[in-house]
Amino acid sequence: QVPVVAVVGRPNVGKSTLVNRILGRREAVVEDVPGVTRDRVAYDAEWSGRRFTLVDTGGWAIDAKGIHLRVAEQAEIAVELADVVLFVVDAVVGATDDDAAVVKLLRRSGKPVVLVANKVDDQRFEADAAALWNLGLGQPWPVSALHGRGSGDALDAILDVL
Ligand code: GDP
Ligand code: MG
Repeated sequence: QVPVVAVVGRPNVGKSTLVNRILGRREAVVEDVPGVTRDRVAYDAEWSGRRFTLVDTGGWAIDAKGIHLRVAEQAEIAVELADVVLFVVDAVVGATDDDAAVVKLLRRSGKPVVLVANKVDDQRFEADAAALWNLGLGQPWPVSALHGRGSGDALDAILDVL
């Protein structure tokens, strides 16, 4: 049984970019604007010789339900099927109300969570990442999914809880 790691977070925080970074290839669809087609896509991934299934979420069409409810819905489904949740927050933007709603849901689930503070492209944003300790999910791992900075440490943190 291969463990499932689900990548959860608001649109545009860099989930798909991070998935591609972990896969080492461009497979997940990256969009500058939220509203792509696919909802949940599973990939075979490996790190340090450990195999796992990586589930990208999002790519919501903004429909009548509105984006906020869709974020919560998608997160809920992904969390249910996950062994570990990779919760991605845009560290530069900081935690939003939508992020807070996902945090509640993650707490209720009791699933292990690895918190990724994304878009920490350089040292200047380390403080923004550290501010995410306030979410109460433990250590925020500063990552630049775009450039690869910090992604190895975040992956090690996932393996630690797998
Ligand atoms: P998703 O909606 O959460 O899957 O986000 P995407 O992966 O589609 O990325 C949304 C936008 O954020 C794209 O323009 C990405 O290039 C950008 N992005 C993703 N990761 C980073 C990062 O680490 N640093 C910066 N500066 N931009 C990023
Ligand atoms: Mg995406």
